[in-house]
Amino acid sequence: MAIATTNPATGEIEKTFEALSDTEVDERIARAAATAVEFRRTSFADRARWMNASADYLDAAVEEIARVMTTEMGKTIVAARAEVKKCAKGCRFYAEHAEAMLADEPGDAAAVGASRAYVRYEPLGPVLAVMPWNFPLWQVIRFAAPALMAANVGLLKHASNVPQTALLIEETFRRGGFPEGAFQTLLIGASSVERILRDPRVRAATLTGSTPAGRSIGSIAGEVIKPAVLELGGSDPYVVMPSADVERAAQTAVTARVQNNGQSCIAAKRFIVHSDVADAFEASFVARMQALRVGDPMDEETDVGPLANEQGLLDVEKYVDDAVSRGARILCGGTRLDRPGWFYPPTVITDLTPEMSMYHEEIFGPVAQLFRVNDAAEAIALANATVFGLGSNVWTRDAAEQDLFVRSLEAGAVFVNGMTTSYPELPFGGIKESGFGRELSAQGIRAFCNVKTVWVG
Ligand code: NAP
Repeated sequence: MAIATTNPATGEIEKTFEALSDTEVDERIARAAATAVEFRRTSFADRARWMNASADYLDAAVEEIARVMTTEMGKTIVAARAEVKKCAKGCRFYAEHAEAMLADEPGDAAAVGASRAYVRYEPLGPVLAVMPWNFPLWQVIRFAAPALMAANVGLLKHASNVPQTALLIEETFRRGGFPEGAFQTLLIGASSVERILRDPRVRAATLTGSTPAGRSIGSIAGEVIKPAVLELGGSDPYVVMPSADVERAAQTAVTARVQNNGQSCIAAKRFIVHSDVADAFEASFVARMQALRVGDPMDEETDVGPLANEQGLLDVEKYVDDAVSRGARILCGGTRLDRPGWFYPPTVITDLTPEMSMYHEEIFGPVAQLFRVNDAAEAIALANATVFGLGSNVWTRDAAEQDLFVRSLEAGAVFVNGMTTSYPELPFGGIKESGFGRELSAQGIRAFCNVKTVWVG
């Protein structure tokens, strides 16, 4: 894919970039490796100062960065501003808590015949981060803030359609005061990733992206024995049971499905509603989806902007057309908008069967699949009938039922009476084909640490 800014609201190419040559990539890796040697000796206090200054820069540059993101991938300007602010908070969170999260942990010295035994967390060195365009700042910051605070150094290969955002991230950490080489953006295509991952100076990798990309990076990392975190796709269930506040569930369902123009890994994608409340939920949900304003993402009144690229639009169209041709029923939306750019309207679709491809795959656009079930067991079986296991949502006010769903849903997270989202304070990640490893919280910062056991006789 060409490295370029193509505005999804118009389909026009606004800026193109040359990919780095292999020699230039090698120079950047050498710089990362050299920086890693010195950087691991810096103090938490120094790194926290640089991280907080990076957060200050993000806060000061909210408008500039938000406009670049909206231009490059079409999220609404309101959502883009919120993302930049969330990133500043994420940086501050790790500036404040990293030292405590990575403090030495005493072990039971007497039990192992030592005078002292403890665990210490040490950096691994250069980490390659392969990132997607959908939250082009947050996906990177949630890797970079903990990684840098743990004294690792970062090499970013961002998605090819967000090069200006990618360069702004490097600029953010440079302006924050981090040493040159602590965080570098490599403008390269996906085909250059394997060479970098195989380079012995690169010690680990993280990928947020599709399952096929995860398979590729995971298998190479396995071959060269390097730790990897994989944050992949999802088709999260959103279950509504009879005791739920149905109106609130329907209102939240809209945000859960159309946030980021429907392009979020943890978006609720399959709405599984108990038959006792299905009519009420459907009526409210469909009315709210229809009422959303689709349009120019730079307009503050817009709820849903375009899909990020033409292929994304074609994929959504294909899934919907396939389902309709096999008997699915459209409750609203269902056909692309007749205007320049890659716009698809908020869509609700029902009467779905396993013969339809969207039943099994991830649909990355504002299309909600609506199912009716007769009891909790049926809801759980359908919720788990997917290769994915990222987030999950259930609405019920019955305490025993809450407990049943928390225990039974196969996912990296369960949100009860709310929608799945990410917080720096809580771990984030999936199971099954949604990936492995965790980001955020103390788990995320330790993901790229050597957990060193120390035994002193
Ligand atoms: P993608 O095609 O997998 O791209 C993600 C990144 O991987 C890009 O930088 C891409 O580079 C690179 N890439 C693609 N194929 C590769 C390969 N074979 N080897 C090495 N690198 C490769 O995914 P996307 O379409 O941008 O993003 C949407 C997907 O990401 C969805 O499935 C979504 O659910 C998932 N996602 C998951 C999470 C999570 O936290 N679990 C969060 C957000 C998104 P190019 O751009 O140059 O192709």
